[in-house]
Amino acid sequence: MPLPWLREPLLRALRLERSHALLLHAPQDAGQFDLALTLAQAWLCEHPGQAPCGRCSACRLVHQRSHPDLRIVVPEALRVRFEWLAEDDPLLRASAKPSREIKIEQVRDAIEWTQRSASSTRGRSLVIHPAEALNAHSASALLKTLEEPPGNLRIVMAGSDPQRLLPTLRSRVQRLRVEMPDAKQAKAWLSEQGVAVQTDRALAVCGGSPLATMMLLEAGFDDAALAALPSAVARGDAQGLLGKPVPLVVDLLQRVAHDAMARAAGAGARYFDDASLPAGATLSALAQWQRELLRVAAHDEHPWHAALLVEALVTNGARCWPRTATPARRGGDHSLHSAR
Ligand SMILES: [Zn+2]
Repeated sequence: MPLPWLREPLLRALRLERSHALLLHAPQDAGQFDLALTLAQAWLCEHPGQAPCGRCSACRLVHQRSHPDLRIVVPEALRVRFEWLAEDDPLLRASAKPSREIKIEQVRDAIEWTQRSASSTRGRSLVIHPAEALNAHSASALLKTLEEPPGNLRIVMAGSDPQRLLPTLRSRVQRLRVEMPDAKQAKAWLSEQGVAVQTDRALAVCGGSPLATMMLLEAGFDDAALAALPSAVARGDAQGLLGKPVPLVVDLLQRVAHDAMARAAGAGARYFDDASLPAGATLSALAQWQRELLRVAAHDEHPWHAALLVEALVTNGARCWPRTATPARRGGDHSLHSAR
């Protein structure tokens, strides 16, 4: 079964029977990839016209990712994250960083696959995620297939920002917007997953996404830890962030920076409680810190010295609050280059 807030969008998508290419777009982490996979499964299920039964042989093959009529195209970096690599996968031996883009070779390979005949009468399903990972070349390579899909091929793309897609690609797909669940639905789902703590702050920090909230909680960030985070950063105290997954930490610091920026500019905070954000941050220092965080976020690899990296980021963050940070912390040179 799809996630509860995706059931209605799934039925809506299934009603678009004549559409061969769909773009499911939703705010980050709303579950659009899950929905795309469930939709593809429903298209292949032996009991068509409804949510996938989950029991037929087609559904079972989809679950094992071995259905011959299903192709899932994601960037290498996601295959690594999902642990979708066979033991002999070249990615495991490659020294290069796994790509975060969908490469043109992947698209060409998928197009070649679409031209073979389907193994069942249910046709074939191609899932592409995230659509924004298609670069100009791979998106262009896909245009003809989107316009004239061979045989009974159906394509579903998941994404979060249609404006970042090539206009020619955007115009060839039918768009279906998926909303984040409301707070009540989100909390109901979290409690079904066994979450028994307050999650208001975590949900706000995650832009309302229960999936991202779950990951945050699993990493040990409850509401109390999150409420204490901005002032800890302002003091230059990285203790609560050490040992946590670096991409998650960088993401959290970006949100602290965003809200501090909003507050310094006289606007309201978006992720954290206004009251938990220390006053007195300087805009120019925040802008510099944000650029640094963006740079680090763009590098996906796990640094060998994760603790040093996190400490340097927090120390540099503390410089945005010159009256809050302790002089000892502000003294030394905490250049990121020396930390990595
Ligand atoms: Zn089925």
